[in-house]
Order: sequence, then C-alpha cells, then structure tokens
Amino acid sequence: LKKIAVLTSGGDAPGMNAAIRAVVRSALAEGLEVYGIYDGYLGLYTNKIEKLNRYSVSDIITKGGTFLGSARFPAFKKPEVRAKCAEILRSHGIDALVVIGGDGSYTGAKLLTEEHGFPCIGLPGTIDNDIPGTDYTIGYQTALETAVDAIDRLRDTSSSHHRISIVEIMGRHCSDLTVSAAIAGGCEYAIVPEVNFSKEELIQQIERSFQDGKHHALIVITELITDVHQLAKDIEARVGNETRATVLGHVQRGGSPCAFDRILASRMGAYAVELLLKGEKGRCVGIQREELVHHDIIEAIDKMRRPFKAELLEVSKKLF
Ligand code: ATP
Repeated sequence: LKKIAVLTSGGDAPGMNAAIRAVVRSALAEGLEVYGIYDGYLGLYTNKIEKLNRYSVSDIITKGGTFLGSARFPAFKKPEVRAKCAEILRSHGIDALVVIGGDGSYTGAKLLTEEHGFPCIGLPGTIDNDIPGTDYTIGYQTALETAVDAIDRLRDTSSSHHRISIVEIMGRHCSDLTVSAAIAGGCEYAIVPEVNFSKEELIQQIERSFQDGKHHALIVITELITDVHQLAKDIEARVGNETRATVLGHVQRGGSPCAFDRILASRMGAYAVELLLKGEKGRCVGIQREELVHHDIIEAIDKMRRPFKAELLEVSKKLF
C-alpha cells in the first residue's frame, strides 16, 4: 500500500473534517501518500483529485462541513460509471479509498471493492445516527447539542407566551436525535418514526394536561412523519393556545463539531488507515461499547438493524 485517497459523500456532518485530517495525518505518519477527492463520487468521476500534505488539513479540526465538499451523484449506481472511477483511481496510482458518509455512500464503496478489487473502508459520517454497526456516527452528538440549544431557546419564549411549540428534528427513520433531544430539552412529547403517530391521541393528551393546569408545551417530532405546520394549526384549533412549528432543518448539520465528535472522528480516521495497512477491504468502521470495531459493509447495512431505543422514549415519557 503506497497511495490512499479520501472522500466525503452524502449529507455533510460536523466532524467530517476531523475525520479527513485523521486519515491524512495517520497515513502520512505511516509513509503513505494521500489524495483528497473533492465533491464525493462526482469529483472522483470528474477527476477532481489532489495530493494532500499535513498542512492541507491544518486548522480544520474545529470546522463544520467538509473542506473536500460532498455531493449526491446517483450515476454512481451504474456499473460503467464505477468502472470509470476505478480506472481514474488507478491512473493516479491510488491503492485504496476511505469513504466518509452514510449508508448510500457505503454501498458505493462496497461495490467498488467487489467489482474492481479496490480496497475501500467506510466511516460513518451523518448526524442521523442511523448507520448500523456503530453506536455513534460522526456528527450526531454535535447535532444533538444544536437541537437542544434550539429547544432551550424555544422553551423561554413558549413559556412566556403560554404557547405550544413543535420542533421538527432531523434523523430520517431513526429516533435517536429526537428522543435524546426530548430528554435533554425536557420536552413533554416526543413523536418518533418507530412508533405509529396518532394526531388524535396527541391532541387529547395536550388537552388533558392543559386542563390540569399546564400553560405551555414542547413537542419534538422527527422529520418525514407529518406536516408540522398543519399539526400546529390542528392543535391550536382544539386546545386554544397559540401553537407554532419550527423546522430546525439544515441548521442541525452545521457548526463546529463538539469534542466527542472530534475525538470519535480522529479515532475512526486513524483506525481506517490501520485497517487498510492490515489488508482489510469492504469494511465499515464503528464504535460499539467504547471499542472501535469493523464490519463487512453489506452485512452491516443489510443485516445489522439499528435497535430502536425504546428505553429512552420511556424515560422521556416518565419525566413529562
Ligand atoms: P446521508 O445518510 O447523509 O444521506 P448517504 O451516504 O446515505 O448519506 P446518499 O445520497 O444515499 O447519502 O448516497 C451518497 C452517494 O453514494 C450517492 O449520491 C451515490 O453517488 C452513492 N450511492 C448511493 N447509493 C448507491 C448504490 N446503491 N450504489 C452505488 N452508489 C451509491
């Protein structure tokens, strides 16, 4: 192994820069050459590839986003596009690739390994914490802090105005961000994708609590469940109190990574290089019970379902 490359793909997440930095610096420490591929698989296809040195990754550990850029490039699903990408990698003399991204990016990496014998290692970079084979993804803890900060601010104004606030949180089909934010933000209701949502039940619960003397409420809900602005109108019509929905959206993706994410990304980046040096390929890195682990990418995506943290939801309900 002489030359490796690194790219970031899919949705960006705070801590991706720290992961790139770790890959670059630990590879250089092992005497390898490192190349940065800009804009994910799109940049690979269009040959946006540059050699990196230790100073290419100076001053980025504190920065959100990814200095390499990221892109959605659905054409990478086509075998002929992947074949051209493998050719481009070989034309640079690159021996192996580290892909930082979500499960879509992982699938692309695995196909490159399987079809072209090209050693790839995946690192979990997404705020959603929805990747199997790891307890935490890079970016999740930072996004959680951002969501809790927003909820705290909404609590101040909701409580002053006896208002009901609905906060829509990212996470796609995974409740981790929502439930953890609900507990940390002391929210009354957490609506998550893993549990069937009944608008009627929610409204009845709010009605009861307001009859019992409550003056304001905070509801957190994962994205893609329902139209939160319509939900706000329906609650206001029945309960009577002003109800507003706030969609946190991409705000959750930005910001300086917290210490946890910087450390996680640094450890995972260094581990990816270690694995490549050991001849591993088609693997994805995770952290489970505080230990770094690696799994076959496809097995992780297909077979290792992320467990729904029902216990967290129960705690949030008990404390309401
Ligand atoms: P996030 O979870 O943040 O959305 P992701 O990596 O899952 O990240 P996707 O948009 O699904 O994001 O995938 C990123 C890129 O990976 C795609 O644009 C495409 O280039 C590649 N990719 C996704 N799915 C496949 C697939 N089935 N085969 C080959 N490449 C894929």
